[in-house]
Amino acid sequence: MGPKSVLKFGGAALTDAAAVRRVCTVVDDWRTREGTGPVVVVSAFEGMTDALEELAYEAARGRGDLGPVRVRHRALLRQLELPSDLLDRYWRNLAALLVEVASENPLAPASLDRVLSFGERLSARIIARALGRYGVPATPVDAWDLGLVTDSRHGQARPLEGQGAAIAAALREVPGVPIVTGFLAKDQRGRLTTLGRNGSDLTAAILAEALGAGELVYWKGVPGILTADPADVPEARLLPQLTYAEAGELAFHGAEVLHPAAVAPARRARVKVRVASLADPQAPGTTLVERSEGAGPRAVAVRDELLLLRLAIELPEEAATQAARLFGVLGDCDVTPWLTGSEDGCVWALVDRGLPIPTVLERLGSEASVERDLATVTLVGQDVGCDPDLVRAASARLAGVGIVPRRAAVATRALVEVVDRDRRRAAARALHSLIPDRALLQN
Ligand code: ASP
Ligand code: MG
Repeated sequence: MGPKSVLKFGGAALTDAAAVRRVCTVVDDWRTREGTGPVVVVSAFEGMTDALEELAYEAARGRGDLGPVRVRHRALLRQLELPSDLLDRYWRNLAALLVEVASENPLAPASLDRVLSFGERLSARIIARALGRYGVPATPVDAWDLGLVTDSRHGQARPLEGQGAAIAAALREVPGVPIVTGFLAKDQRGRLTTLGRNGSDLTAAILAEALGAGELVYWKGVPGILTADPADVPEARLLPQLTYAEAGELAFHGAEVLHPAAVAPARRARVKVRVASLADPQAPGTTLVERSEGAGPRAVAVRDELLLLRLAIELPEEAATQAARLFGVLGDCDVTPWLTGSEDGCVWALVDRGLPIPTVLERLGSEASVERDLATVTLVGQDVGCDPDLVRAASARLAGVGIVPRRAAVATRALVEVVDRDRRRAAARALHSLIPDRALLQN
């Protein structure tokens, strides 16, 4: 009998040795209940991807110190009573890689991916060994050994189509419970790639689709999907249910619930998806459903650190060429806008602030200008953009806290407000107050 479930353990839940013990209990319970082992996908331990990223950049400046990353993993080995030399091979490889990287300035995206890969490669080894000690035979697996192949866009790679059957066959060959590295893959030339932050979610969805799994559970550091990030909105509450489409929309607009691309494969394959808390495994968490009763606002997402690029349009007949120019330059510089539009005298694109922007501006020349320090605050729910009363109510609530959005956009499931970033929390709370209590009920 093949595996029926895919269990994904996220970095925010993988905090310490106690968390690894909880993973062991959950996997063991699953195996007992289903009579067959699940497939497990793991993230790096909490904070490790950030630490490795910093290490990679420091190494490129000739100052890479492996110490802190190694100390943290050593402590885990000790607390879990695992052999202290379990990871030695990886430390040697990582040290050699850092030496290679020291001659790179700027750091190549391909090298960054190789350094980041150690987070998941190490956590898979630790968790597989811990499971073995717990009495559950398990094998660590690098996702590329299952045949997970992506395009070559380092840092944001996407899996190629049509790999499902090969992946499922490879998974069935793995002895014991496969503990698969999330986030990692290789391209067609065999170069290591990563799927973007939170990419382990996508790995898990791809494996679940490949297996035709009955259930996919995302074990997180939070109780499930909430109506907002409590850091923005203290009154945020747990959503027992959400549609796949709403979850995808939330992720797209910046909520760190799931990787934005992770919803589609699970939905296609009709896998039951649940987001649950590793700290409280018996709690139901959030279940994704195809359809829910009723429309209306369900949750608020915030995307921070944005800037708006504007390209002037002098004459109406220039509109199309200026739009083409703006999008052409963004495309050449690999910048994907979150929102675009045109208005009196300009065409605009809302983008992440960051590295390629100076190049974009240089290429656009003097007709371009920038508005900085922006954020989007988005109300998500079935048909929210089709309800004029709600759109008016949203403006009124924002006005009530003194916020006039810089831009706004509506889509079927999203009401997007562009605001100054220092007002994003106030805006999020104002929009959140429009979520009715019935949004929190189970169907
Ligand atoms: N470790 C990666 C990150 O921190 C991928 C993941 O956790 O899904 O983003
Ligand atoms: Mg994560």
